[in-house]
Amino acid sequence: MKKCEFCGKEISYFDMYCQDECQENANKFYDLRDKYGKLFAFLDAIFVFLIPIGIMAGSLFGAIGDSLIVIGFGGLGIMLLLLPFPTESMIRKHQIKKAILMCRIFALILILIAIIGIFVMF
Ligand SMILES: [Zn+2]
Repeated sequence: MKKCEFCGKEISYFDMYCQDECQENANKFYDLRDKYGKLFAFLDAIFVFLIPIGIMAGSLFGAIGDSLIVIGFGGLGIMLLLLPFPTESMIRKHQIKKAILMCRIFALILILIAIIGIFVMF
């Protein structure tokens, strides 16, 4: 059985989406990803890079390294919350709606780690 590409509801073989609203939402998602995909990849690389740098710097400079780790996790979390772009394999497996929700939950976990990090540090 074929599934709606946006919400995952079962649909007939000839359709792509179960309703117009799903098609609109899917288009909005793809537009946003076209617009900000490059920015996302750029910021993603920086924040992910900060975490191991922070771990290495932490052994030498203490608080500076910890700050970099917190910025890395917090930055990734905030970015994923604003630009929840799941991977293609996530979209294929879970459809857009659920994949975005999973991104946002992951984002909140990252932000939570950053907040806990701030409390541990100071
Ligand atoms: Zn749908």
